[in-house]
Amino acid sequence: MTRKKINVLGMEFDYYNAYDLMKALRGKINRGKKTFLVTANPEIVMYARKDEEYREILKDADYVIADGTGVILGSKMLGTPLPERVAGYDLMCSLLEAGSREGWSAYFLGAKKEVVEKAVDTVHVKYKGLKVAGYHDGYFKNSDAIVAEIKAAKPDLIFVAVGFPRQEKWIYEHMGEFEKGLFIGVGGSFDVLAGTVKRAPELWQRVHAEWLYRLLQEPKRWKRMLVLPQFVVEVAKARVLRKK
Ligand code: UDP
Repeated sequence: MTRKKINVLGMEFDYYNAYDLMKALRGKINRGKKTFLVTANPEIVMYARKDEEYREILKDADYVIADGTGVILGSKMLGTPLPERVAGYDLMCSLLEAGSREGWSAYFLGAKKEVVEKAVDTVHVKYKGLKVAGYHDGYFKNSDAIVAEIKAAKPDLIFVAVGFPRQEKWIYEHMGEFEKGLFIGVGGSFDVLAGTVKRAPELWQRVHAEWLYRLLQEPKRWKRMLVLPQFVVEVAKARVLRKK
């Protein structure tokens, strides 16, 4: 069966809502099928436009999911609406929850040492049925020991939280060495899981202002966020071209 794809500024998004995505992923994991999933926000879409290597890597992913209200808005403006935003952090929590019920194992790679340790502590408390196959901070030069650990443990879930584009590049580079597992880049999610960074309250999320909440929490992100208005401008241009 070919899956429905929606193109937003050159990026082919899979047409999934959170419920159907989890259903599909549960099947893949329980069958031991090796899978690479990317949650792409407007920053990633814009970055992929200028980095060919990254673009090719994302084309190779099994799933590209819309993370970010901007992507949903862009898809609507282009007349091909995606069903809903599936935030990387929420997807990670849904997978941990399902894993706790189904007895899956998970490996956590990324963030500062004390952050990933705290995140793993939280996982032990909140997702009791899930087995922690191992973890490592994201400040490493050589991946050999990490790869060997994942190879031996054969986890069902591998969360890579070293920020884009590095996390997707790491997954792509090493996936061939593993037999199974769902590999997913989750950016700053361990910081949220550990409680060192707060997720925007639901109200902020509902009024599509999560980006503003994040900016207020981490003002040093302002430069990175300049790409958001650029994204909107590019979508507006693409819309004009599509209508012609
Ligand atoms: N990080 C890491 N290794 C590095 C650089 C960053 O593990 O060499 C971690 C950092 O501690 C943070 C995450 O990667 O937990 C990046 O979060 P950010 O919000 O910048 O990522 P994005 O969501 O934009 O991909």
